[in-house]
Amino acid sequence: MEYDPGKPVHLVINPRCGYGGHHGAVAQLKAEARAEGIELVEYVTKGPRDATDHVRSIAADASAVVVWGGDGTVNEVAAGMEGFDVPILPCPAGTENLLAKELRIPGDPRKIVQVLRHGRVIHCDVGRINGRAFLLIIGIGFDGEVVRRLANTRSGHISHLSYFWPIWRTFWEHKYPRMKITADGEEIYDDYGMAFIGNISRYAVGLRICRDALIDDGLLDLVVFSCRKQTGMLLHAAWTLLRMHPLKGNAIYKQFRHLRIETAQPVLSQVDGDPGPETPLEVGVSPHRIRLIIPPPARSWSIWPWKGEVPV
Ligand SMILES: [Mg+2]
Repeated sequence: MEYDPGKPVHLVINPRCGYGGHHGAVAQLKAEARAEGIELVEYVTKGPRDATDHVRSIAADASAVVVWGGDGTVNEVAAGMEGFDVPILPCPAGTENLLAKELRIPGDPRKIVQVLRHGRVIHCDVGRINGRAFLLIIGIGFDGEVVRRLANTRSGHISHLSYFWPIWRTFWEHKYPRMKITADGEEIYDDYGMAFIGNISRYAVGLRICRDALIDDGLLDLVVFSCRKQTGMLLHAAWTLLRMHPLKGNAIYKQFRHLRIETAQPVLSQVDGDPGPETPLEVGVSPHRIRLIIPPPARSWSIWPWKGEVPV
């Protein structure tokens, strides 16, 4: 990356991210950066949305922002940096690091500094759901109910295990809603099921639901699983594990710029893992609104190596 020595590189740390105990890694990150002539200006966040306010206040005087946290912290930083020319480097330091994994950002502090020094800047899209920004993936129906159940019961830090009972209960109790979906002016679905909309391909636990999604193509990827009961859900899950779901007859895979989802009764959604708005939903994309730093392309590898990937 073109490093502007006239402006500092900022480091935003979420002290509550992941499993804690990052002090050693952060100290190493700062030492490695210093050895490369980069003095990181550190800021430790104090609570929800603090990262957004902080980066907005330093945006005019930053050459880059390194984020030490998970997807939640990156979302907050991106919200503050939207429309600014300052690139963000998200380190995989949280419980869920979907964006950092998608961009292939390494976890080792030495390698992170190399990405900061030699990576390149891409101009990424920001999704909108009923006017609210999202970076990763939203889910409508089943997914929204799981996240709402988790939010109602959670106390303190969550791990992957925290999702077990919400998923189990939703699996048995969820009533798959009938959804009318209009994409770029064309009605493409009017049936029962669940839907996902991705700005990136990754979903939790390594699933790639929006398999072909690219964060910088100005489009969002829609996946609809036609489904009325548990057996249908299990089949879709199996095909998704094999990354062959876009090829199945009872699933829709479509890229779009604007989408509307209507249901007879309000249906829950989740937005980047948090409870989202209820239907009706208007979903759109603001192309190239944030800058992200990604590693330089490895020898003879595409930076999006899964595109067109054959499942094994
Ligand atoms: Mg895209």
